[in-house]
Order: sequence, then C-alpha cells, then structure tokens
Amino acid sequence: MKALRTAVVGVGHLGRFHAQKYAACSDLQGVFDQDPERAAAVAAELGCIAFPSLEALLAQVDAISIATPTSTHCQVATAALNAGVHCLVEKPFTLDLAEAEYLEELAARVGKVLAVGHIERAHPAIRTLRERGFGAPRYLEAERLAPFKPRSLDIDVIMDLMIHDLDLTLWLSGEALQDIRAVGVAAVTDKADMANAWVTLDSGAVANLAASRVVREPVRRMRIFWEDRYASVDFMARQLRLVERGGGSVPGIPGVAEQVLELPAEDALEFEVRNFLGAVLGREMALCSAREGRLALAAALGVRAAVETFLQGKEAG
Ligand code: NAD
Repeated sequence: MKALRTAVVGVGHLGRFHAQKYAACSDLQGVFDQDPERAAAVAAELGCIAFPSLEALLAQVDAISIATPTSTHCQVATAALNAGVHCLVEKPFTLDLAEAEYLEELAARVGKVLAVGHIERAHPAIRTLRERGFGAPRYLEAERLAPFKPRSLDIDVIMDLMIHDLDLTLWLSGEALQDIRAVGVAAVTDKADMANAWVTLDSGAVANLAASRVVREPVRRMRIFWEDRYASVDFMARQLRLVERGGGSVPGIPGVAEQVLELPAEDALEFEVRNFLGAVLGREMALCSAREGRLALAAALGVRAAVETFLQGKEAG
C-alpha cells in the first residue's frame, strides 16, 4: 500500500481525517480544496502538496478520497475516473440516482474501483457482528441523533444521518426494501431535520429508524433482533452487547445470557481506507461498492418521498 500514490479532494472536517489515514498507510501526495487556505493548512500538517487545481492533483495519483459536499461528488468523481484514478466517495454517494448510475457505469467502463464511504460498515461492532454470521435479522431499530452543525446542509437528515442505518439494514439483511412509511419535519433548515421511518423488507422483516440533527445530546445506537438473540450496538461508546437464549446471566430472566463482546482496536476510517486501497490493489472487495452506495441512496430517496407524502397529507388536511 505504501507504493500507492494517494490524495484527498475536499479537506474540510472529514477530508482532513482521510488525509491523515492515507499519510499513515500510503504515499500521500497532497490535497486539493476549493478553499486554498484550508488546503494549505492540511498540507502543512501532513507534509504534502496543496495542489492548485483538481486537474493538477489527478495527474499525480493512483487513488483518492472525495470528501467534498454531496452536490459536487458526481462532478469530481467523473473527472477522477476519466483521468484513470480510483475513487472512494464519501456518503451519500450522489445527490440523485441518475448521477449514481452514471458513475457506476463509468467506473465499470474505465475499470477503476469506485467505493462509497458508508463508514458504519467498518465500525468494529458491526464488523464483529458480521463475522459471527447470524443471518438476516427479523427486526432492527436505530437512533441516530446529533446536535446541529452548519455542515452537510446541502442534504436533509435522511441523506445526512439516516442513510447510515438504511445502508446497515440492507447490508445486514441482504434484502431489498418493500415498503417505506416515514414522517419528518424541518426545524432549523428548509429540509427535513428530523425523521422517523418504518421500512419493511422483502422477507417481512421490519426496521424502525429515527434520525435528527437538532438534538442536544448525540446518540448513535442500533438494536438488532433475530429469532433467538438480539444485539445492542452503541456506535459512540464502541460497545456491542449480545443477549442470547441459553445460560442465564441476566438477573430475573431465566435462560437468557448477556455478554459484552471485545471489539477490534482498528478505527472505522482506518479500516475503510485500508480496505479501499486493498481493493485498488485487487486484494479484496470494496467494503461498499458503487452499486451498494446507489441502493442506500435509493432507500434514502424513498424515505424522503414518504416524508413528502406525509407533509402533503398534513397540508391537505
Ligand atoms: P465540510 O464542509 O467540512 O468540508 C467540505 C470541504 O470541501 C470544504 O473544505 C470545502 O471548501 C471543500 N469543497 C467544496 N467544494 C469543493 C470542490 N468542488 N472541490 C474541492 N473542494 C471543495 O464537510 P464534511 O462534513 O467534511 O463533509 C464532506 C462529505 O463527507 C459530505 O459528502 C458529507 O456527507 C460526508 N460526511 C460523511 C460522514 C460519514 O459519517 N461518513 C460524516 C460527515 C460527512
């Protein structure tokens, strides 16, 4: 991986962390940001070049992360893929499905890796759960609540936060969504800042997902139920509790055992970046392919449409 020449386009809040990871495990050439002061600061921190343009950056590298606002992902990724550069695009993949389909086809045509940064797939708790191979859950519930920040305001809370849990729901269950019901409201921005979705999967399994970007205390939790066990994931505390039939360690509930599982130390972004570079080298599959990024986006757009239906119903009433 050390031989791969890498760079990051867009080094705001998240892009700077991508650049730090590349500096540790590859040959980080530099960064480009439309804000030259921001690019210069990150380049100085990591001892790399602040490129004067996207084109200058693309001429020097094998692989990049794109951590610009979602509304620019398609334009930046198109330029990169056409220049023969592998891309890890932050989530949400693109603004709409036409852009996602276009990029997916372009990457296949030019034969480059196009991965999407659905980072919760790389969370140590989710990785541990996947390794256990429990099969498709029957019911999932998630809360993803964050204090207001003046970032990612080109998208609503569904694309910003809920899309993580929609992606995990699809990934953990390996199924397509069948029906979506949702409510949502705009509180601070002109887009939905809070939403709750009830989605049914093809098998009849159900996910109940809540997201808000206007709460005081952050919460990122998911509970996943199978026939005979359930897992509780606290993404922020990096904790995974597993409750199963058998044994009897839960006071007051006979025949039910609970354990707190030990998790791998490697952080999620480091895992994601290393996986992407492994995919570039042909050693492994990308953790989240362009197709999967598109499916998560389609689910998020489905929730948004359901919220709009709900709001129209309210207006009509
Ligand atoms: P940010 O506003 O902090 O940073 C974006 C940066 O991109 C800014 O420095 C801006 O100057 C630069 N930029 C804008 N347009 C550009 C262009 N055309 N070319 C080059 N630079 C450009 O935003 P952020 O919070 O870092 O979010 C960036 C992306 O990461 C978004 O797509 C967001 O949805 C995603 N994100 C993902 C997660 C996650 O959990 N995976 C978390 C936060 C943000």
